[in-house]
Amino acid sequence: MAAASFERRFTPLIILALVAALVLVLGLWATGRAGESQAVAAGPDVAQGQYHWKLVTTWPKNFPGLGSGAENLARYVDELSGGRLKIHVYGAGEIVPAFEIFDAVSQGVADAGHGAAYYWKGKVPASVFFTTIPFGMNAQETNAWLHYGGGLELWREAYAPFNLIPFAGGSSGVQMAGWFNREIKSIADLQGLKMRIPGLAGDVFAEAGGTSVRIPGGEIYTSLQTGVIDAAEWVGPYNDLALGMHEVAKYYYYPGWHEPGSMLEFIINKDSFDALPPDLQAIVTYAARAANQDMLDEFTARNNAALQDLVNNHGVQLRRLPDDVLLALYRANEKVMQQLITDDPMAAKVYASYRKFYDGVRAYHHISEQAYINARDVVMDAPGPDQAH
Ligand code: CA
Repeated sequence: MAAASFERRFTPLIILALVAALVLVLGLWATGRAGESQAVAAGPDVAQGQYHWKLVTTWPKNFPGLGSGAENLARYVDELSGGRLKIHVYGAGEIVPAFEIFDAVSQGVADAGHGAAYYWKGKVPASVFFTTIPFGMNAQETNAWLHYGGGLELWREAYAPFNLIPFAGGSSGVQMAGWFNREIKSIADLQGLKMRIPGLAGDVFAEAGGTSVRIPGGEIYTSLQTGVIDAAEWVGPYNDLALGMHEVAKYYYYPGWHEPGSMLEFIINKDSFDALPPDLQAIVTYAARAANQDMLDEFTARNNAALQDLVNNHGVQLRRLPDDVLLALYRANEKVMQQLITDDPMAAKVYASYRKFYDGVRAYHHISEQAYINARDVVMDAPGPDQAH
């Protein structure tokens, strides 16, 4: 009884004392933390070996698929460096709008960026080759050209005047041709059509009689819904489902003639990169390479499930572009490409490298990847022994 009474009388006091002690300890700790964060906010604290980077993207924050590239890079670098280099990822519009990240990183407003090189074709016409070109190489081939065919060296040469170092930043694989609200049965159906379609493909689309409109991913849905555009391409089933494209368009066309293996980019301000010790530079380099491969793996895994969802649960009408439409687009592409390499010497230099590599790898893939995919369809779709006759 006495013990219980003691507890009743003194327990609240003990709790109060403990709370007061905790508040004091936390207060001291927070003061120390505030001092720390002030020190890092002022710039890299080389004495502590601690670096903080800002990375700006052309995607909405936490966007699946494309947006995972920057998040993965930040996570890999954090884990590999034991937290010595923290990359803080900002979505489109948080520090700068989507199409201003190139300038922001070039000028040191941010240390790094994640987007697509073809967005900058107005500044660097040759940049289109580093993302994708119509009827060009697929993801596997583009990765091979960049990392073993001299492509990355050319990319770095093209970006050097902007104080930027580019790295491959993930590929979507072959994209879808896009979302339409009317069927495309002949090239006449493209006449006057206003479509969101970036890169060199936008010029090709215009050459073929359409009107290309350049808008960032985050604005496509509303533009299509309000009739600012008639059609739009974004990525493929996984990312298009996430954007809700099926709610504003009915027909979903393939194949992605315009983006057969779209490569994204990490761009890093050269001064920010040079300020890192060699081991952190290596960590950034290899983390970028890992994040690059991871994106293609994720898209390959998720596109199939997303397509089934779009068709089976959302009533999306899947259509293949007719061959004569594809041929007309290819002819338009030939003209646009010729103009590009006539007007810009760097584009001509990159095209020469790209085309030589493409011709070689296409011939090889004709008897390897392509021959195998054809062969597996033949045998796996063949009637079983009991179904013969
Ligand atoms: Ca696209």
